[in-house]
Amino acid sequence: MNDTNTGANPAPPRRYDLHAHSQRSDGTLTPAALVTRAHAAGIEVLALTDHDVTDGIDEASATAGQLGMTLIAGVEISVTWQGQTVHIVGLNIDPAQHALQQGLARLREFRQWRAVEIGRRLQKKRIEGAYEGARRLAQGTIVSRTHFARFLIDQGYVRGMPQAFKQFLSSGKPGHVPGQWAALDEAVGWICSAGGQAVVAHPARYKLSAGKLQRLFGEFRECGGEAIEVISGSHTPEANRHFARIATEQDFLASAGSDYHGPEKTWMELGRLPALPDGCVPVWRDWY
Ligand code: AMP
Ligand code: MN
Ligand code: MN
Ligand code: MN
Repeated sequence: MNDTNTGANPAPPRRYDLHAHSQRSDGTLTPAALVTRAHAAGIEVLALTDHDVTDGIDEASATAGQLGMTLIAGVEISVTWQGQTVHIVGLNIDPAQHALQQGLARLREFRQWRAVEIGRRLQKKRIEGAYEGARRLAQGTIVSRTHFARFLIDQGYVRGMPQAFKQFLSSGKPGHVPGQWAALDEAVGWICSAGGQAVVAHPARYKLSAGKLQRLFGEFRECGGEAIEVISGSHTPEANRHFARIATEQDFLASAGSDYHGPEKTWMELGRLPALPDGCVPVWRDWY
C-alpha cells in the first residue's frame, strides 16, 4: 500500500466501520459499550446504524467524544422492494429531522404489529409465549426477528441463529410475516431530507437475480441514492470484489461496514474489515 497523500485533502482517519448495531435495535451492546469496543479495536470512525431507530445516537456520540473518536449518526431503514426486504443505510443524518422520524415511527408501528403476529403464528406451531419472550429480550423500543431467534434458542427449539431463521423466521417458514416496510423512494427521501447519504446495505445478501439487483441500483440512484456497501462483514471476499467493481463501473460511492451486532457475532468482529479496493471512491471522500 502506498500511504503517500498526494491529494489536496488532509490525510483522513484510517479505519472506518460504517454499519453497526446496538441494543436499541437488535445488537446486544449498549451504544456506549459498542463505541468503547470499536475504539479498543482500532476503529476511528464508527457509524451507529440501528434498524429503524435513532435513539442510541446521543449516547454513542457522548462516548465517542470522550474517547476522541468520530461517531457518524446513521440508521438502517427496512424497505420493501418488489416484495423483498432490502436495507438502506443512511449516513450523517440529522436524527432530529421530522420527515425521517415520522417515517421511522411508521416502520416501528408495523414492527410492533408484526411482532405480535409472529408470536401468534409460532403459537399455532405450539410455541408458547414467543412474543412476550422476544419483547423481554429487546432492550430498546423495537422487536426484531433476532429477538425471536434468541427466544427460540433459549427455549431449546433450535441450536443457533442460522437454524432459527432457516426453520422458523425466514420467508415461507411458519413464523414469517411478509414485510410492509418503506418504499425505496421513501427511505432514500427521508435520508436525503435529513441531510444524509443513502447506501444500499450488504447487496450480496439479497435473493435477487443480477438483473433485478441492477434494477434496484438504478431506481436507488434515480431517487437520490449515492453509495453501495461494497465491503460488508456479511460478504464473502468474492462478493466484496464483485461489488467494488460494480461501484467503480457505475459511479457509486463505496461504503464499508461490519454489520456488527455484538460479541456473540453473527458475521464479524469489530476492526477486521478489509480496506476498500483500489479504484473505489469512498463514501467519506467529502466528509472532511
Ligand atoms: P428484522 O428486521 O426484524 O426482520 O430482522 C432482520 C435481522 O435479522 C437482520 O438485521 C439480521 O440481524 C438478522 N438476520 C436475518 N437473517 C439472518 C440469518 N440467516 N442468520 C442470522 N441473523 C439473521
Ligand atoms: Mn440486524
Ligand atoms: Mn441489514
Ligand atoms: Mn445491519
